[in-house]
Amino acid sequence: MTTRSWVPVPEHSDFPVQNLPYGIFSRAGEPPRAGVAIGEYVLDLSRLGADAGLPYAADFTAPTLNPFMARGREAWRAVRARLTELLTDGAHRAAVEPHLVPRAEVTLHLPFEVADYVDFYASEHHASNVGRVFRPTQPPLTPNWKHLPIGYHGRAGTVVVSGTPVVRPCGQRKAPDAEVPGFGPSVRLDIEAEVGFVVGTPSELGSPVSAADFADHVFGVVLVNDWSARDIQAWEYVPLGPFLGKSFATSVSPWVVPLEALEAARVAPPAQDPEPLPYLRTDEPWGLDLAIEVACNGEVVSRPPFRTMYWTAAQMLAHMTVNGASLRTGDFYASGTVSGPEPDQRGSFLELGWNGTEPVKLADGSTRAFLADGDTVTLRATAPGRDGVRIGFGEVSGTVEPARGAAGSAGQAEQQE
Ligand code: CA
Repeated sequence: MTTRSWVPVPEHSDFPVQNLPYGIFSRAGEPPRAGVAIGEYVLDLSRLGADAGLPYAADFTAPTLNPFMARGREAWRAVRARLTELLTDGAHRAAVEPHLVPRAEVTLHLPFEVADYVDFYASEHHASNVGRVFRPTQPPLTPNWKHLPIGYHGRAGTVVVSGTPVVRPCGQRKAPDAEVPGFGPSVRLDIEAEVGFVVGTPSELGSPVSAADFADHVFGVVLVNDWSARDIQAWEYVPLGPFLGKSFATSVSPWVVPLEALEAARVAPPAQDPEPLPYLRTDEPWGLDLAIEVACNGEVVSRPPFRTMYWTAAQMLAHMTVNGASLRTGDFYASGTVSGPEPDQRGSFLELGWNGTEPVKLADGSTRAFLADGDTVTLRATAPGRDGVRIGFGEVSGTVEPARGAAGSAGQAEQQE
């Protein structure tokens, strides 16, 4: 039987009672605090505590989810169970209803304080496409690719919440036929549609975390847009990997979907051949059936299927800590661009427009090899939830603003060409 809330939830809402994602919100003149999304409302957890016997109530008055995320899995379960009870049993309606705030009235903030940020490269289709574009004379996958989830450390301080404008970055870039690099605004600004994992429970320095302990450490899941300046990236990335081509902004969705809400979305990932080393093997794999949608200025341009990812989030966690690197509450790691096998399942314009050679055609007649100033890119995703319902992630959206500074202004003309 489908569990229903006494809170009215519109059909196809991202936020039925089977979801209950956590976020940080505020209303005008009030401090940011924690809430969960339900239908068209946010349930204000900071006010609910005293009235409704919510455990760990004091954690929810904080301006980030970190205090609650640090409590660990038993606490996450207890609060979720109590919230489900409060929102489905009409006996609690009188106590709970005063703490429902219309979502239309709130501002959503970055939901957690980001400790370290790591970005992986776990889609075989994406890695193969990028290999074909950037290294056409070599095999598409590097020799290490099927032995370990490749990743790099990103810039935690520039992880921003959905809605934050993205200023076109300036930097060095060198055309393949140019002798020397020039400086100016990126002319190949791109997106990467990704899924991010938020760590709650820390670990001890020197002790690896096993893939089997994934759900003890990871609190929840968000959508990620890893904005990427392909021209800056192409010139700088050898031999140490991405740097300024990535670090100017990484956008995340404001609602953290609890891992527990994704139990029904678990699927077997694609077969792994060769078999990975023992520390990367898991008895209970964590493939996730998330259907992602990429829209440019409101028009869907791609539908990347997360279930096709070669490496799972549990394997990424095991790899990230196998050298004894410790986890901190607020650590955040992203999957890498999600691309499926089909051309309309690619999670970046680099792939959708095949490095500018086949620009994406939009309904208004314009084309996009890469992003133009003023473009708004929005990612959404849904997943199977409990009781056969679909749950959603809300959205992560960002609009490109022109480059700033003298070099930025000088570069505008060039970018228009
Ligand atoms: Ca990325």
